[in-house]
Amino acid sequence: MNIQEREERHALEVYPRRGVSIVRGAGATLWDDQGNAYLDCASGVGVASVGHANPAVAQALAEQAQTLVTCPGIFFNDQRGQLMETLVGLAPDGLNRVFLCNSGTESTEAALKFARKTTGRSGVVAAMRGFHGRTLGALSATFKYRDAFEPLLSGCQFVPLNKLEKLDAAITEDTAAVLLEPIQGEGGVRPAHVEFLSAARQLCDERGAMLVIDEVQTGFCRTGTFFACEALNLVPDLLCLAKGIAGGVPMGAVLCSDKIDVTVGVHGSTFGGNPLACAAALAAIGFMQENDLAAQARSKGDYFTRHFEAKRPERVREVRQFGLMIGIELKEKATPYLQALLAQGVIALPAGPTVIRLLPPLVISESELDTVVTALHTALAN
Ligand SMILES: *Cc1c(COP(=O)(O)O)cnc(C)c1O
Repeated sequence: MNIQEREERHALEVYPRRGVSIVRGAGATLWDDQGNAYLDCASGVGVASVGHANPAVAQALAEQAQTLVTCPGIFFNDQRGQLMETLVGLAPDGLNRVFLCNSGTESTEAALKFARKTTGRSGVVAAMRGFHGRTLGALSATFKYRDAFEPLLSGCQFVPLNKLEKLDAAITEDTAAVLLEPIQGEGGVRPAHVEFLSAARQLCDERGAMLVIDEVQTGFCRTGTFFACEALNLVPDLLCLAKGIAGGVPMGAVLCSDKIDVTVGVHGSTFGGNPLACAAALAAIGFMQENDLAAQARSKGDYFTRHFEAKRPERVREVRQFGLMIGIELKEKATPYLQALLAQGVIALPAGPTVIRLLPPLVISESELDTVVTALHTALAN
């Protein structure tokens, strides 16, 4: 029985599969069990920003695994404290407190609970096409994937992205949280306009709601600044982080402003803030800083767009590129082209029905990007 057959026999099938068994990675390259190499423009969905099998992360993991793997939140820990200090140092001013968890959806759950506890309200305003995770609370604030799971949390409302009057009408005295991605990832690489986000900030202040910004996908240098909030001059009350935070190791975090008022016992997580993940995160973030991955994301993203647009295929409607978060919107369905790319050894992602999304490791080289551009031009040729 090969790898695929064994998984197919036992896995609960919740993922659309691509018929490839990946067994190894290094930098921006993945290998399958047959020894075929792929250029990875998915990064495990935006996770492997520092590259697969990053040596600094691997070493930190090996050392920490031999020191201390688990340590509950009732005790202090050296790795955890250092990571919190690092995160607060990198975040927009005023986000001074950290809650650590294990995934993006857990960061949304925590943020929603903290906003509810702080405001004593329960309403949530989120954006159409927004994605915040798949557990029941986060799903309640997510636009898609909900149908089979109603009833979800009541009081969640969706407004069209960048429609100011709709946002204004939706935020009321019952709103606990306004939850937004600075650039929608799963929803198609669609940016929130700076005016929309600053209006959200102002309306939250006026009406006593908490502004929750979900940077699970945009954070950690992906869009060309350490956090997308930086480029937008935006200071949320709660900032959700995960994906790229720990070099591939499961981790999530919520950064909180001084407004957030939670007390002992309000929330917790067995694995959250474990020293192993914290050590990985410290190594990954250290690598991002030493190599200025934010600047790399900017220049490589621009490099990609310049070369891709030089010979833009007819069936492309629009390219939306923010650092190395790239959406190529087609005039037709994207799935067949994802398969054509895979056949050429390039792994890419969908983002909605018509968008090809590229989230390569930020360590990808320009010559690797040349290969990606050539594969895209070939796959999308008429
Ligand atoms: C991926 C994602 C999540 C969910 O993260 P998981 O780790 O899969 O739970 C939440 N918000 C955004 C913006 C994401 O891209």
